[in-house]
Amino acid sequence: MSFLYETHLHTVRSSACANSRGFEYIHLYKERGYSGIIVTDHFYNGNTAVSRNLPWREWVNRFCRGYEEAREEGERQGLDVFFGWEETFDDCDDYLVYGLDKDWLLEHPEVRNWTRREQYLALRAAGGCVVQAHPFRQHSYIRRIILSTGCVDAVEAANAGNYEQSYDALAMRYARRLGLPATAGSDIHETRQFYDGEIFGVYLEKKMNSIADYAEAIRNHGITGIAAGPGRCDYHGNEEVILPVEIRDRYDRKIGKNWKELLK
Ligand SMILES: [Zn+2]
Ligand SMILES: [Zn+2]
Repeated sequence: MSFLYETHLHTVRSSACANSRGFEYIHLYKERGYSGIIVTDHFYNGNTAVSRNLPWREWVNRFCRGYEEAREEGERQGLDVFFGWEETFDDCDDYLVYGLDKDWLLEHPEVRNWTRREQYLALRAAGGCVVQAHPFRQHSYIRRIILSTGCVDAVEAANAGNYEQSYDALAMRYARRLGLPATAGSDIHETRQFYDGEIFGVYLEKKMNSIADYAEAIRNHGITGIAAGPGRCDYHGNEEVILPVEIRDRYDRKIGKNWKELLK
């Protein structure tokens, strides 16, 4: 028996680039046989739809509305909905954060000013985890690829929002080279993706009772499989990287290593 979960989903309430409300997704994931979804809206330093001029408490309350609307409908229809977020650094690299809740956020306003290393250490200490999202994406808004090799628990290998298959192939290769678990997610921004795109996810052996279960599964290499298009993560060795690549270590320091060397 295995259970399928969406790990990367945006709502228009909290992500400036999304188009669908949280509740609109519920019946679609149910029909596809998912056990649950994790809402991961763009966080404070990313493409958030919530004004940064608001006091922290109010910011968190509004940020969580996207998730709460999804959860309320999930409860009605019988689909589990969990909370996470996606934080951005240097307008370049994104991290999916799982395991913590609204109350924790309310008590930790310093989360806004973290470095990658501070994020990783604080999240781990609190029982959460950090997954680098689509590390090899080369869309036009990204200036450079930043690979955080030491401040993450896992790598999102397959991302249905990536335009090129090669980005996923490189990410899977990268995850394997680092010895980290590989995840998959749809990075869905609107329900239309169900009709003109692809829907990804991860398989777990046990049903999740809370988002802490997912963080634990990641940290303990408990993901039993990924749902992604056929061949999506197949690495051929001739994948192109046109953006500059910056590699960072566990102290979040830039190291001089070449990405080709890292993936060899
Ligand atoms: Zn977005
Ligand atoms: Zn995303």
